[in-house]
Amino acid sequence: MKSNPGSLTCTRRIEFDAAHRVVNHESKCRHVHGHRYALEATFSARSLDRLGRIIDFGVIKERLGQWIDEHWDHTAILFDQDKELGSAMADITGQRIFYLPANPTAENMADYLMSEVCPALFGDLPIECVRLRLYETPNCYAESLSGQA
Ligand SMILES: [Zn+2]
Repeated sequence: MKSNPGSLTCTRRIEFDAAHRVVNHESKCRHVHGHRYALEATFSARSLDRLGRIIDFGVIKERLGQWIDEHWDHTAILFDQDKELGSAMADITGQRIFYLPANPTAENMADYLMSEVCPALFGDLPIECVRLRLYETPNCYAESLSGQA
């Protein structure tokens, strides 16, 4: 195995569609609306594998892409204090709801992935998720850096 002094990273982009609303937002984002989100997940490792990789891009897709598909894609991502709205949406349209333990801003969504989801998905591998960048629009993103939560 070739050591990696930390300068090499690899990144996979995963896109998904979801609705959300930001509770108590000062303006129009308090209304339910949708985004084509794009997540860029960046990983590093102490050493490269025998083929020269941090992790196969396919493994990122299999694990993180599948989690996104199951939990966030085509769902409404709501603050867990917003259950009255979530219940009504689910009752009327069968909408799938994902309750986040914080207001579903791009920052809080990236933080949730970094602190809760990635450790569970990749904890068995000798890699570290070092950055999650979540685009809410092509011009706006929030990112979570490991160890800075
Ligand atoms: Zn929004």
